[in-house]
Amino acid sequence: MRDQHDPESHRRGTLAVVATTSACVVLLIAGFIHVAWYGGGQWLEQVYSSAFYMKFNTTLALICAAAGLIGAAHGAPRIALAGGLGALAVAVPTVSQYITGVSIGIDQLFRHDIHHPDIPYPGRISPGTCIALSCAGLQLILTALNRRKHDAVSTAAELLAFLVFATGAAGILGYLEGKSVAYSWGSYTRMSPHTAGSFVVLGIGLMASAWANTGERVARIPLWAPALLCFVVLMIDISTPRGVATGIAYIPLVFCGLWYNRPYATMMFAVVGSVLSALALFAKAPSETPFWMVIANRVITIAAIWFVAALVSMLRTAEAGLRQGEMRLRAMVDNMVDGLITIDERGIIEQFNAAGERIFGYRADEVVGRNVKILMPEPYHSAHDGYLSHFARTGDARIIGTAGRELTAQRKDGTLLPIDLSICEFTLGNRRHFSGTVRDITERKEAQAALLRYTRELERSNQELDDFAYIASHDLKEPLRGLFNNAQFLQEDYGDKLDEEGRGRLRRLGYLTQRLERLVNDLLYFSRLGRQELAQQVTDIGEIVDDITFRLESLLKEQNATIVKSTPLPQITCDKTRVSEVFHNLAINAVKYNDNAEKRVEVGYLETFEAAHGTERNVFFVRDNGIGIDPQFHSEIFRIFKRLNEEDDQKKGTGVGLTFVRKIIERHGGRIWVESEPGKGACFYFTLHK
Ligand code: ADP
Repeated sequence: MRDQHDPESHRRGTLAVVATTSACVVLLIAGFIHVAWYGGGQWLEQVYSSAFYMKFNTTLALICAAAGLIGAAHGAPRIALAGGLGALAVAVPTVSQYITGVSIGIDQLFRHDIHHPDIPYPGRISPGTCIALSCAGLQLILTALNRRKHDAVSTAAELLAFLVFATGAAGILGYLEGKSVAYSWGSYTRMSPHTAGSFVVLGIGLMASAWANTGERVARIPLWAPALLCFVVLMIDISTPRGVATGIAYIPLVFCGLWYNRPYATMMFAVVGSVLSALALFAKAPSETPFWMVIANRVITIAAIWFVAALVSMLRTAEAGLRQGEMRLRAMVDNMVDGLITIDERGIIEQFNAAGERIFGYRADEVVGRNVKILMPEPYHSAHDGYLSHFARTGDARIIGTAGRELTAQRKDGTLLPIDLSICEFTLGNRRHFSGTVRDITERKEAQAALLRYTRELERSNQELDDFAYIASHDLKEPLRGLFNNAQFLQEDYGDKLDEEGRGRLRRLGYLTQRLERLVNDLLYFSRLGRQELAQQVTDIGEIVDDITFRLESLLKEQNATIVKSTPLPQITCDKTRVSEVFHNLAINAVKYNDNAEKRVEVGYLETFEAAHGTERNVFFVRDNGIGIDPQFHSEIFRIFKRLNEEDDQKKGTGVGLTFVRKIIERHGGRIWVESEPGKGACFYFTLHK
């Protein structure tokens, strides 16, 4: 069912019918005469003696060729091959007899020529018939062997089919015009009118089969048009006397090549035109014109044919190159991930690619020719005409020429979608066009919205946490102070009424409330770090380190520790007070968690650093030769109130130093990490930028 609607299979079907019909007509003519040769001859000879002008061998070869043609038209290459070989088996030995002048006895091998005993070679088929049969046989063999539909072979097959047709047509015209030279070459036997007619029909059939067997549609004109043109031109040519330049009438034949898809079809028509023009020369009526002029006339004609053919062929080659470029561009445009829409100055859509169809839900043929506004929701829809005319008047572009502007577009079903639109302007001829690249950014937008939601959520919960820590620690401070004061009063006023154990417990109570107060103060400070704005200013880090060294002078002396700047330290923009706290905390820890006799704290800066998590730029570090940290605690140490060396009272802290450090660094948009192993010192690296 589907095949009937497919134009390609419809075309092939029609061509196969033409080929089959031609083959049947030839079979009928040749078959009839073939049978007549067997004895039904008496009455036929009386009624229609000219039938026997078709030689017995010709009937045999034509039957073979016609059968081969049916095979070729119906996809039976073996039959086509056998038919072609059959025709050649008759034609080739005869040709060899003509060439060598030696008779090998093929002429009367099958049948004695009782009808023409008086002609020079009884039973021998004419040279014209030999040529046409050879062409037909060769054409069938090529068609049978050309399974891969090789272009050059297909063209050769077409050419051979034309030659079969042309030989037959020349013979017929010769009979019509009484020019024996068209059907009788030299003093040999002549081609009979039946044979000539059969070749015209066979030629048409072979052409049809050649075209049906080519992969693509070969021409944009019906296949009989050039054949008819050959016939008409030949007739005009033959009917005019020698010396008249009717040969130029073959030039329109060359133009037929323009409608053929293959560029070298033109050359094929030039060959056909030249052959016909040469043949016609001999068929023309003799005239007064001197022979050299007649020949010169034909030579000029053939040269003109080839000149035009060369021009047309150049044109076709250029056109083919152009078309190929266009096809490549089309393939690229259609396979683009982004939609591509081209509009003219009035906003009328001229081109709409496959991605555009996917994005907007319109087929290209639904939108081409309509205004691009249909792809826009309000208010862009109404504003668009104004925008275009404003741009045309003033050249003031808001979107044109910009890369990736986010807009909202409208699909065929009315739903909206976010798009990223880039428009460029180009001029063709003297008209302006705009080409827009549209990217559907629905997914990107959704991801952005989700990210924004999460960030807001995170900021809000962080804020709540900071607020909670602030309120809790702030409100805890007062009762805590009261607790401490009361413990103090109790100790002062009632100390003597308690025994030693009681007084000890009171002292412990005082110590614990003090420690709790310190923790609450740390918490309060931590929450402040999260709430306060950074006071950014240009800061010399080297100065900060010098200042810390100065402030810690006595501690350093007492601990036999030194702070050294191992590289030059840069100036950066940061919150000076907070960053100073970072270096202070890290330096104190480097001394505190260090049991080396000579404690060394190294502060430095690296422009790039290959950290385990990737490359980092503008990295500060604080390195010590202390006790080091087991890698399993490398992230835990930054947690609030987390301490590793609880047992060592000397080093007792609240476990908040590194938490403050990290908070300050993160507020600056940087990150901190540590590289260390127990006993091998520790090195804290950090950045202070996003
Ligand atoms: P604190 O010093 O008050 O205990 P920190 O937050 O500053 O609190 O440090 C957390 C823990 O990290 C410390 O208890 C210590 O065990 C470990 N630490 C910090 N700095 C160093 C260092 N330079 N060398 C070894 N351990 C360290």
